[in-house]
Amino acid sequence: MKYQLIVIGGGPAGYTAAEIAAKAGLKVLLIERCNLGGVCLNEGCIPTKTLLYSAKTLDNARFAAKYGVTVGDASIDLPKVVSRKNKVVRKLVLGIKAKLANAGVTVLQAEAYIVDSHHVRCDKEVYQCDKLLACTGSETIIPSIEGIQNIDYWTHREALNCSEAPATMVVVGGGVIGMEFAAYFNSLGTKVTVIEMQNEILGGMDSELSALLRADYTKKGVKFLLNTSVTALSQDEEGITVTYKCGDAVEHLAVDKLLMSVGRRPVNQGFGLENLGLKLTERGHPEVDAQMQSSQAGVYICGDLTGFSLLAHTAVREAEVAVNHILGRTDEMSYRAIPGVVYTNPEFAGVGATEESLTAKGIAYKTIKIPMAFSGRFVAENEGVNGVCKLLLAEDTTVLGAHVLGNPASEIITLAGMAIEQRLTAHQWMRIVVPHPTVGEIFREALASI
Ligand SMILES: Cc1cc2nc3c(=O)[nH]c(=O)nc-3n(C[C@H](O)[C@H](O)[C@H](O)COP(=O)(O)OP(=O)(O)OC[C@H]3O[C@@H](n4cnc5c(N)ncnc54)[C@H](O)[C@@H]3O)c2cc1C
Repeated sequence: MKYQLIVIGGGPAGYTAAEIAAKAGLKVLLIERCNLGGVCLNEGCIPTKTLLYSAKTLDNARFAAKYGVTVGDASIDLPKVVSRKNKVVRKLVLGIKAKLANAGVTVLQAEAYIVDSHHVRCDKEVYQCDKLLACTGSETIIPSIEGIQNIDYWTHREALNCSEAPATMVVVGGGVIGMEFAAYFNSLGTKVTVIEMQNEILGGMDSELSALLRADYTKKGVKFLLNTSVTALSQDEEGITVTYKCGDAVEHLAVDKLLMSVGRRPVNQGFGLENLGLKLTERGHPEVDAQMQSSQAGVYICGDLTGFSLLAHTAVREAEVAVNHILGRTDEMSYRAIPGVVYTNPEFAGVGATEESLTAKGIAYKTIKIPMAFSGRFVAENEGVNGVCKLLLAEDTTVLGAHVLGNPASEIITLAGMAIEQRLTAHQWMRIVVPHPTVGEIFREALASI
């Protein structure tokens, strides 16, 4: 069977690309070995945020008295929370299925194997294509720690389906996924310890705001062990014993559960990618140009497989760029303003450059830092809660980076992302009218202070 485009992987990159290409009239085959929606819909972005919303609702009920609202003893029904999460996932996966069917995409549930740039094999059938798009995503890294093979640890998959909160838990890795689960289980009443190898959690995000978020969660009862690595693990009927090292000191900690979240790596093996002989980057990922085309003409790579940002919104935009190029439309990928969000409570979001990245590159910048309390709406909705908004500007006031700690950082960060992507100066950004009262006005407050 011949197709104009074969897409391998039905995650955000794959389903976006397939839908746009088919809507534009191409004959498209999408091959997905597991579930449409990929990691994002089935076991990543959507299920975690659904659980975190339940946790936030519980926290809101617990602290309702601060807002003059009386609620009885708030409690959580975890099996119900998990079943709602499953319902949300099912609904969204069905939505993707319907969209692809409406666009005329042929979807095949099978394991794809690339024979060459024009042939993909599934079971015994070989499918032919003019263009090929690989977006096989990423997988959890399991570090080789002594004894790990003998313990029943969790990854995000098991944590997502937990129907009885453990009394104690260690989260190995204080990155975004680790912190979101630490926040979730902290709200459920679990005594959480986060073990992080680096000197701060959330590497890659603004380190000053990361430290403030850590301080906030420390107050809420989460324990953080920084500059610390797990060296051995063991398990008996009592639970899991974690051996960790900080400097020369070796310590042990006994817990009920351990969540492994030290990072993710692209799925780039086992499906014939090597048969294409693609040029690789220094980090071993397939090299792509600004149109997401690999070193082999007609072969495109998008999403986590590129190893760039491992975020769903990046995957979606890359897929749009790749398909536009296939369709002969002018487009190119920009990584200047990819927002990163940690859905803790409070949320923490950043976009563009950090102080650390600018300093490393020797780029001069000016920092504006104001409390979130400069936004009337923030004060109205965040009783007794602090927050920070930080903007980084070039010497000519072009906006280079924005970092926000405070709700709803995930929503307002888009405003800064647009300013950074469009290379607006402070003066140009100030001319844009925003509704009052909104938390997004915080950026105008920050800009007005220069
Ligand atoms: C717990 C967790 C929380 C997350 N939260 C967020 C978040 O809040 N925001 C965010 O932006 N990102 C988040 N992410 C990351 C996000 O899920 C990924 O960046 C996104 O899913 C990448 O999309 P993708 O299309 O590249 O790949 P994926 O979504 O990984 O999809 C790849 C698909 O390819 C399929 N596949 C692989 N090999 C083959 C083969 N040989 N044949 C057929 N099919 C194949 C896989 O089954 C999979 O369905 C989270 C991830 C996790 C694990």
